[in-house]
Amino acid sequence: MASRYIGAIDQGTTSTRFIIFDETGAIVALERREHAQIYPKPGWVEHDAAEIWRNALDCVAGSLEKSGLRPGDLAAVGIANQRETCLIWDKASGLPLHNALVWMDTRTEQAVAALARERGADCLRAKTGLPLATYFSALKLAWLLEQTPGARERAQDGEVLFGTIDSWLIWNLTGGAKSGLHVTDATNASRTQMMNLATLQWDEEILDLFGIPRACLPEIRSSSEVYGHCAAHSASILAGVPIAGALGDQHGALLGQARLRPGDAKNTYGTGCFMLMNTGTEPRVSSNGLITTLGYKLGGAAPVYALEGSVAIAGALVQWLRDNLGLIRESHEIEALARSVEDNGDVYFVPAFSGLYAPRWRGDARGIVAGLTRHSNKGHIARAALEATAYQTREVLAAMEGDAGVAVAELRVDGGMTDNELLMQFQADILERPVTRPAMIETTALGAAVAAGLAVGFWRSLEDIALHGGAERRWTPQMARAESARLIASWEKAVQRSLGWRD
Ligand code: ADP
Repeated sequence: MASRYIGAIDQGTTSTRFIIFDETGAIVALERREHAQIYPKPGWVEHDAAEIWRNALDCVAGSLEKSGLRPGDLAAVGIANQRETCLIWDKASGLPLHNALVWMDTRTEQAVAALARERGADCLRAKTGLPLATYFSALKLAWLLEQTPGARERAQDGEVLFGTIDSWLIWNLTGGAKSGLHVTDATNASRTQMMNLATLQWDEEILDLFGIPRACLPEIRSSSEVYGHCAAHSASILAGVPIAGALGDQHGALLGQARLRPGDAKNTYGTGCFMLMNTGTEPRVSSNGLITTLGYKLGGAAPVYALEGSVAIAGALVQWLRDNLGLIRESHEIEALARSVEDNGDVYFVPAFSGLYAPRWRGDARGIVAGLTRHSNKGHIARAALEATAYQTREVLAAMEGDAGVAVAELRVDGGMTDNELLMQFQADILERPVTRPAMIETTALGAAVAAGLAVGFWRSLEDIALHGGAERRWTPQMARAESARLIASWEKAVQRSLGWRD
């Protein structure tokens, strides 16, 4: 009997999920594991890649058990992953040589500043679509090669391999040290700042600039094709299942939300907050602080590009209130705490923990809480933390509309934070337009499933996929315009005070 399901690994910043979908895009089973966030120094953020690999396998096992399905019931597996996070590992042993450096890690700040002084912050924009920033992988890789004894020489000989998390998972799934395939998809590669957006290949000039040996880099493939099959010895639970799709998580959500036409946009509220707009088959250069990125590349079809506005700290601020201040025990408790007060009490929280990303790109900014008085309490802090995401989203949307020359009548959203009713209502208020969430919010994993399903003929075409059953949730603006204008003006003042903190 034909396999009737598709599996997707969603390897996020906070957690890993394995989700099994049926042909209507409905979830049959889901298993999730959080992994440790490692903070060795201020600004440094690491993950243990071996833990992530173990979690992925545990999630697969858990989902299969819950659903009562066998590996043979899966027509293919796709992967969506946190982007820019990268590691190097030993090809012979299969062991990581260092913890993975997470996208929001700022340890390359000095290297970024030095290169920006020498060549200008936009020196790689034309080729890669990206400004120089600590966010992207190339300088993280340069740091790893520099700091790990012997790594550079061994990387030159192809004995040390580099990968973003998609590469790491595919390599392990296909047999690791014995038979692992060293590949990546073009959306993930587009975030390393080493891929040329026009050719979708590694750019020799950029590799020279960063001092990266070509031999350690994976082969760049499309987002939807059979890369290989899961190996019996390393991923026995999935043995024989084709791995047929890979995308950066935000690109997965773009597909999963069916943002298939130019001008279609979505905003995902997870650890960070990421708005992407489909701009069609030509890359579009931003003049408003957004980045140009590959949207997706499905097999041999023409690449589809996107404009993106990334906010580094969104749900991560809720985690910070939970883990660093102990204000709440679980992320969702933030809503009740924020509702314990009537309004923000004139408190503003600029969470520039990793500087500010889009549209300002200010690596010199640091976090600040402004407007505290004797009246302020933890409810106001909680409220200010949630509002920060909404204000930042407003700035990104304005930049996007400026670049694209189209108005987004209604914002489509997804991600863990969209469970928060208070935040979503406030978002609609501050944007002065409706916010809509699909019934199925695991859109990132769905996008990976779609990419994999298309590659193996499970679905025939994007148009063929009749997904998104169920009712959407919609929030409409309720706030008086004068009030939202007042809040936005105060937020702007707080942001100004966060800039230049590191000068
Ligand atoms: P990622 O894919 O980046 O790991 P998710 O989409 O799983 O992120 O969302 C998890 C993030 O959302 C965490 O940072 C968490 O703190 C935050 N979060 C989860 N539930 C809520 C909630 N009800 N209110 C606010 N933030 C939340």
